[in-house]
Amino acid sequence: MKRFLILLLLVVILSPVIGQSVARPRLVVGIVVDQMRWDYLYRYYDRYGTGGFRRLLNEGFSCEQTYINHLPSYTAVGHSTIFTGSVPSIHGITGNDWVDQATGTSVYCVADSSVKPVGGSAPAGNMSPRNLLATTITDELMLATNFRSRVVGVSLKDRASILPAGHTPTGAFWFDDVKGCFSTSTWYMPQLPEWVVRFNARSEPDRLVADGWNTLYPIETYKQSTADSTPWEGLFKGERAPVFPHDMQKAYREDHDNIRSSPMGNTLTLDFARAAVDGYALGQRDATDFLTINCASTDYVGHKYGPNSIEVEDVYLRLDRDLAEFFGYLDRKVGKGNYLVFLTADHGASHAVDFLKTHQIPVGLVGMRALMQRLNDTLGHLTGVKDLVISGANYYVNFNHARIAGAGLSLDSLKQTAMVFLAHQPGIQYVVDMAHIGAADLPERIAQMVINGYNRKRCGSILLLPEPGWFDGLAKGTTHGVWNPQDTHIPLVFMGWGVKHGISYRTVHQTDIAATVAALLHIQVPDGNIGEVIGEVVNP
Ligand SMILES: [Zn+2]
Repeated sequence: MKRFLILLLLVVILSPVIGQSVARPRLVVGIVVDQMRWDYLYRYYDRYGTGGFRRLLNEGFSCEQTYINHLPSYTAVGHSTIFTGSVPSIHGITGNDWVDQATGTSVYCVADSSVKPVGGSAPAGNMSPRNLLATTITDELMLATNFRSRVVGVSLKDRASILPAGHTPTGAFWFDDVKGCFSTSTWYMPQLPEWVVRFNARSEPDRLVADGWNTLYPIETYKQSTADSTPWEGLFKGERAPVFPHDMQKAYREDHDNIRSSPMGNTLTLDFARAAVDGYALGQRDATDFLTINCASTDYVGHKYGPNSIEVEDVYLRLDRDLAEFFGYLDRKVGKGNYLVFLTADHGASHAVDFLKTHQIPVGLVGMRALMQRLNDTLGHLTGVKDLVISGANYYVNFNHARIAGAGLSLDSLKQTAMVFLAHQPGIQYVVDMAHIGAADLPERIAQMVINGYNRKRCGSILLLPEPGWFDGLAKGTTHGVWNPQDTHIPLVFMGWGVKHGISYRTVHQTDIAATVAALLHIQVPDGNIGEVIGEVVNP
């Protein structure tokens, strides 16, 4: 009997699921820092405080070699992949926009004309997760607890709030530029909850922009960045040069959208996330809740100024402070160790092309729009039919199938002509016929990314892969979207409930995040999941 009791005691101690109830954290917080390259964890490490990024690394578990394993590397795609554990081929979110191959129409990832704005304006509020074909880890938590959990998505961007929160959340909220407030749609609820109405009534954006945007520390201490004014940085309307201080009050008054391109956008987002924790009592009830947060301003600032700017350095130093405050708030509200956090990114970004050119690094701009125009001219000259290509969205050649069929042309012979033409364009390394991916002469890892990204109903017939350093974008600022590490090597750090302290250099993927969270929560993985559990993270 005594031996049996000891054995029983051992089982109870060793197994997290055999006990009074299933062991789960009170709250899961999934933070996606938009456009955060992995190297930013260390690029600014010496300047971070102890409570934000450094706390994540010093208390949590960092998966140092986390890669995106699909194309293209864009916001909607990355968020869908993180939360479904799946890839565009399966979850269907093949870009922020894509061309529906059956109709030839351009589709915005979360557009849904069947729902109406709630608290915001049209068409910005006509949004839902309808186009997302798979469940999310947040959906699975809801299913696992018979909807006793509460799931909330928060972002300035509609897509970065909607896609992580899944199909069944308590709410998903995003910033409405027309009204300058947080809003949702009738997919979720008929009217805003009282706590959102109260938050919006505080006119927080006006307060945040009032002092303008100056550097957090003396500007001469920004040694990780180029001089304040460079020709490749973007401007706010009316600005003569891209220099501090930026008059955010004026910029916000002219267009509410401008708060996104400043660190105040992240502060606003985390303040709203805090209001959500309060308003819905997240992590303070009898079921596990899930809060998804996208910090979007890192992306807008990155696009405008490029990674080597003082603006980007400053936006990370300020986000670090905001995160420290947010974690401190969760410690007090939910309790240290009672919540599980993971922080990752939807994609990274390239350096500004002209910045790299000044350092003799081989780079260039592909210019997809102009390239598709030249392709249309070439094909038109040959066939007598104009505009056979609709667009070059997401590096795919999207043919106008209705026009091709109407003119009695052969898609195969058009593709052959197009591929020869495209293969001779500057900066184009590979031209892939998507009907014959297996025959493409691609390195194995890149071939896998191409296959994972390809959804035949929502992708074009030919895919272009530029040379390293080349991308489709503008000379001002920068962008992302290609397979290369600057766009696809992302941070992934877990901290808190159930997480070991440590570091791993094993290569894992963006698709492995949902499965790892599912394992920690003892719930089913999403229905399109192809990822694997990162076992090193889990405290046994
Ligand atoms: Zn993004």
